[in-house]
Amino acid sequence: MPAQTYLFPCLTDNYGVLLHDPESGATASIDAPEAAPVEAALKKTGWRLTDILVTHHHGDHTAGIPELKRQHQCRVVAPRAEAQRIADVDETVGEGDTVRVGALAGRVIDTPGHTAGHVSYFFPADKLAFVGDTLFSIGCGRVIEGNAEIMWQSLLKLRNLPDDTCFYCGHEYTDANIRFAKTIEPGNKELAARAAEVAQLRGAGKPTIPATIGAEKAENPFLRADLPEVAKSVGLSGSPAWKVFAEIRERKNRF
Ligand SMILES: [Zn+2]
Repeated sequence: MPAQTYLFPCLTDNYGVLLHDPESGATASIDAPEAAPVEAALKKTGWRLTDILVTHHHGDHTAGIPELKRQHQCRVVAPRAEAQRIADVDETVGEGDTVRVGALAGRVIDTPGHTAGHVSYFFPADKLAFVGDTLFSIGCGRVIEGNAEIMWQSLLKLRNLPDDTCFYCGHEYTDANIRFAKTIEPGNKELAARAAEVAQLRGAGKPTIPATIGAEKAENPFLRADLPEVAKSVGLSGSPAWKVFAEIRERKNRF
């Protein structure tokens, strides 16, 4: 049976998301920004929390863990390299590991750069990816604990997922990301079309998440750093892709 998801806002601009296996009834919370909205989402869906899959150690992704653990005795799965910085971890994972949520099987992908041990979770049967703060729609996370080269390699791994993969990220930043992306690729027609779509969604108070990998490949400048036209637009024709990526990231930091 196909997986079900339920997306809901947390904190100021974070997203929480539940991943549900209808066959077994198992439900994972992807990260836990705060407990109350997760509890509200469980109440609304009638789902039972069995697991928390953590992408990285930042407080706006983990603060809700202790309370949820206490309430539900759920299993907490976290990146191996950051487990000491995350409360109540039961199981640690890294690249290539399989994580099961009931009958759903997810593959762990190491995606360092935003934090040193950041992981993403990819469920191939349902083409669902949970990417934390590595990839955003039309953007990417700040490079805090890694460097640009490491982050670029992580983004390439996510870019290599099937085009029809729906990915869930940790924040609603799409609108601001589009304003920035237009400065890098003012002539990108797909980006212009997406901008109109996003304006409509945000105007109606709706999320712009999930997005697809295929659309991001056409619209997200951070995933396009190896294209000659993108290198040219930032004055780095002929430079390695990661350097182009680094320049785009720097410009976004200052935007
Ligand atoms: Zn973060």
